[in-house]
Amino acid sequence: MRDAMLTASVVGSGPNGLTAAILLARAGFKTTIYEAEPQFGGGLRSAELTLPGYTHDVCSAVHPLAACSPVFATVPLAEHGLKWIHSPVPMAHPISADRCAVLHHSLARTMEGLGKDAASYRWAVEPLVSKWDVLVKDLLAPLHFPADPVLFARFGLLAILSARQAVNLCFNTPEAKALFAGASAHSILPLEEQSSAAIGWVLMAAAHAVGWPIPRGGSQSIANALASYFQSIGGTLVTGARISNLRDLPPDGPILCDVGPRQLLQISGDSFPTSFAKKLEAYRYGPGAFKLDWALSAPIPWKATACRQAGTVHIGGTLRRSCRRPASPMGGRLC
Ligand SMILES: Cc1cc2nc3c(=O)[nH]c(=O)nc-3n(C[C@H](O)[C@H](O)[C@H](O)COP(=O)(O)OP(=O)(O)OC[C@H]3O[C@@H](n4cnc5c(N)ncnc54)[C@H](O)[C@@H]3O)c2cc1C
Repeated sequence: MRDAMLTASVVGSGPNGLTAAILLARAGFKTTIYEAEPQFGGGLRSAELTLPGYTHDVCSAVHPLAACSPVFATVPLAEHGLKWIHSPVPMAHPISADRCAVLHHSLARTMEGLGKDAASYRWAVEPLVSKWDVLVKDLLAPLHFPADPVLFARFGLLAILSARQAVNLCFNTPEAKALFAGASAHSILPLEEQSSAAIGWVLMAAAHAVGWPIPRGGSQSIANALASYFQSIGGTLVTGARISNLRDLPPDGPILCDVGPRQLLQISGDSFPTSFAKKLEAYRYGPGAFKLDWALSAPIPWKATACRQAGTVHIGGTLRRSCRRPASPMGGRLC
């Protein structure tokens, strides 16, 4: 009863803010989310960015990790309107005018396209796929002792490599190299940087385990479902409410901030010890993302059939060309 009286405040309504707010509301806190923008959702927002009737995702679009998120699995997102769409091919990666690497849902079909790298691909990826349910819980949780230490150690040894090291260790064909580089580029790290391989392994395994789905209606549908569930359990969501000082929030309960390090410093007033404030100030941001939104009058006339069937097309070319782009994702996701 005492907890039910406490208030909790969440600053920011991105996927992390919405999820944290749901957990607080479930724990009995009277929870309010404060969102600065008129539209809630943060990186999950969708909007008509080009022509009327064309819905674009403002940031995120493809959601393999949302589809297998252990915390999302506890939220009845489908009952609140979320419907996943799986494209026939999760990802295609044209290499040249007549060559295209393809990541299929099926591990076996993907291996068929990798020629002499098929066995290495199976060696690296199959153990992750076969125990994906266990692995993903360890991967998406805070640091803890893993449920399957052997599997986790095996993953860790491959994940700690740079994408280039992983490719040199495992692959020879342009197809396998390009596929892996494309997936690893989602780390937004230079492909020579240590641990840039981690997200590559995760996304490749996720494609086989759960796919790379997009939400019907755009990513806003995930935010809508989270917000709808949050409100159904008593939560309050206020938009157009930019918090400029944490002291403006109710003082009698927890405050969770779903904002960046420098934004947190700006709104912290003098609440933080100097040493922590200095850490926030010194935080080094990664490179920004550059995004183009197109309203198409017809499907993109890709030569490769797989590109026409894919939810995601990576256009970075060969591994060597991808590495030439400093710290860049592969040039684009065309959905
Ligand atoms: C171009 C692009 C493409 C991406 N594509 C993908 C993808 O395909 N798949 C994927 O999984 N991820 C993708 N991402 C990453 C994904 O968008 C982020 O990881 C995710 O949005 C982070 O969620 P979050 O809740 O931590 O923060 P955010 O989504 O950034 O939400 C933070 C919220 O806090 C609000 N806020 C900030 N300051 C205040 C304040 N003072 N008061 C009140 N509110 C405040 C903001 O307005 C915002 O709504 C992409 C990102 C970008 C930029």
